[in-house]
Amino acid sequence: MAGEPVRVPLASPDIGPLERRYVNDAISSGWVSGTGPYVDRLESALCARLGRNHVVAVSSGTMALELALRALGIGRGHEVIVPALTFAAPAAAVRMVGADPVLADISPETWTIDPLMVGDLITLRTAAIIAVDVMGHCCDYDALAEFGLPVIEDAAEAHGAEYRGQRAGSLGLISVLSFHPNKAITTGEGGCVATDSAEIAETVRVLANHGMTPERPYFHERVGHNARMTNLSAALGVAQVERWDELLGNRHRVGQAYLRRLADIDCPARPQASWATVSLWLQAVTVEHRDEVVRLIRGDGIDARAIRPALSDLPLYRASRRRPCPVASRIAARTAWLPTSARMDEALVVEVTRSLARARSAAADSMRGGISGLPDGHPDRAAGSSGAART
Ligand SMILES: *Cc1c(COP(=O)(O)O)cnc(C)c1O
Repeated sequence: MAGEPVRVPLASPDIGPLERRYVNDAISSGWVSGTGPYVDRLESALCARLGRNHVVAVSSGTMALELALRALGIGRGHEVIVPALTFAAPAAAVRMVGADPVLADISPETWTIDPLMVGDLITLRTAAIIAVDVMGHCCDYDALAEFGLPVIEDAAEAHGAEYRGQRAGSLGLISVLSFHPNKAITTGEGGCVATDSAEIAETVRVLANHGMTPERPYFHERVGHNARMTNLSAALGVAQVERWDELLGNRHRVGQAYLRRLADIDCPARPQASWATVSLWLQAVTVEHRDEVVRLIRGDGIDARAIRPALSDLPLYRASRRRPCPVASRIAARTAWLPTSARMDEALVVEVTRSLARARSAAADSMRGGISGLPDGHPDRAAGSSGAART
């Protein structure tokens, strides 16, 4: 794509002096690998933040999902129900442990897994549901609990969100967060497993540490990964978690500014259930002619993007589609992300939404045909030069 280079990135982490101080301290201390005081501090801080008894910091959100599945003994011969609209990591993690993901369509009211679609997908092999709090909106956990299956909550995009007053990260038997830099809280790469079960937490620790306990080094009890978070990453994370209210508060302000501006230009944002407290991740908007609108906004140096396709439409996960997932396909085709970060000011939100408004009317004009859409030989066609400039 020619045009301006990106001026306004889709996401950018807010890393300040506190993060620098802690990372420098970690370097000076010599604790740079997957053990160290900042890892312990991060885990305790997250226990308090999420309201959970145990948190294990690991190398990524994807690894956290895989460890959660393994800790529940899920593997070959099992099925795990996963929403059709999500980043692919939950489905990939299920495949990585040898089990089969089964895709459930999403609800048009929440864009999260639709409990009404889950019942039909349950078989004797179903071992768990991975409930993804998509774009900062929690799933309907009371409805999911009715199935009596273990629920793994993927709260990678939902730091600070709530379901009926309960915090994202506390809603699954096991909950998983990501700290990738495009998420609200970052450690560089990183993630965590949160649970109230001491036994699950211990199993995750062993699996993330070569299958052994610190008490018996080299006595491998299981086949494990090296999935530890480094003390350097954890130092960054401790600073971010200490700034949790500031970072999420700023994000919330950006979200409110977006909602006001989007209402002004009559552009729908993602829907929200009455029981959900959404925590803004990336601002999503639904538009006609989505690809053309995104192309035009990007021409202004603004890194808008089409959201990910529904997993049910990817060849890799075709076999996981036991039932059609029309809602996921429809939303995936019409939704775009706008740049979102805690440091955006109101003026930038205004600039982005103006670009969106211009792009939307230009795309609508060109799709309506305008002059180029007129039949050959129409008098306006010969006269028109404005139409030709559009491409
Ligand atoms: C980002 C993300 C992940 C993966 O996290 P990583 O830390 O990037 O591995 C998993 N699930 C969802 C829903 C995500 O958005």
